[in-house]
Amino acid sequence: MRKIAIYGKGGIGKSTTVSNLSRALAAKGKTVMQIGCDPKADSTKNLVGGQPIPTILKTLKEKKKNVQLEDIIVEGDGGVLCLEAGGPTPGIGCAGRGIISAFETLETLHAYDTYQPDIVIYDVLGDVVCGGFAMPLRNGYSDEVYIVTSGEMMSMYAASNIAGAVRQFANRDYASLGGLILNAKNIENEEHLVHKLSQEIGTGVIQHIPRNPVVQKAEHQGKTVVEAYPEDEMTYVYMTLADKILKED
Ligand code: ADP
Ligand code: SF4
Ligand code: MG
Repeated sequence: MRKIAIYGKGGIGKSTTVSNLSRALAAKGKTVMQIGCDPKADSTKNLVGGQPIPTILKTLKEKKKNVQLEDIIVEGDGGVLCLEAGGPTPGIGCAGRGIISAFETLETLHAYDTYQPDIVIYDVLGDVVCGGFAMPLRNGYSDEVYIVTSGEMMSMYAASNIAGAVRQFANRDYASLGGLILNAKNIENEEHLVHKLSQEIGTGVIQHIPRNPVVQKAEHQGKTVVEAYPEDEMTYVYMTLADKILKED
C-alpha cells in the first residue's frame, strides 16, 4: 500500500486534481482510497455525483463509539473509496486536531486492512502547515508528498512552506517530497516561475496541468473529467499524472 499526500493552498485545485488522479488510477486497475483533509469536506464530491458525504468528525460526534466503516466510506465512481475527515464548528476547535481524530478512527476501525487499497491519497489543505495539518506527513501516514501550485505568489508561498514542513521530518524517515504539480492559472511566465521554485526547494515539476473549462463542465455534473469526458485531452493529462506517480513507486 502506497500513501501519498497532496498539499497546496486553498482553492488552488487540489481536490479537482486529486479526484481526477484517483479516478485515473482506478481506470488503471488500482484500488484507491481518497481521504479529504480539509474542513471544506468537498475533496471527493466529483466522485460521488456532487453531493457531500458524511464526514468522519460529524459521524463520530453523532455515533460516538458505534461508528462503523460503512458510515464513513462511500464507494465513488470507478470504485474509488471516498472519505472526508471534516472540520470543527467555525470559531471553535482545532481543524488539525480533527485530522488526528479522523486518522485515529480509521486505525481503530482497521480501515486499511479491511479495504486493502493499493494507494491512499490524502488531499490536504496547506495554507497553515501547523502540527495538525502536518499530520499526514508524520508517523508513517504518507510516503510521498506532492504539492499543487500555480504561478501565483500566494500559492508558491504556501508550496514553499509545505516543502519546509516536509524537510522538518526528513531525518526521521517520514514522507519525502515527490515534486510539484503545476495547476495553471495562466499567470504571465508561469512555467518559469514554478520551475524556479522547484529548483529552490530541491524538487521537480512532475506535471503541468493546463487550465481548461472542461473541468467546470464536468464539475457541474458532479463528475471528474476522467468520468465525464474520457476522450478529452484533460483526461489524457490526468492519466499521464497517474502513470508518473505509479512509476515513482
Ligand atoms: P482546492 O481543493 O485546492 O481548494 P478545488 O479543486 O476545489 O481547489 O478547485 C477550485 C476551483 O478551481 C474549482 O471550481 C475547479 O473547478 C477549478 N479548477 C481546478 N483545476 C482547474 C483546471 N485545471 N482548469 C480549470 N479549472 C480548474
Ligand atoms: Fe489547530 Fe493548526 Fe488551527 Fe492551531 S493552526 S488551531 S493547530 S488547525
Ligand atoms: Mg479541496
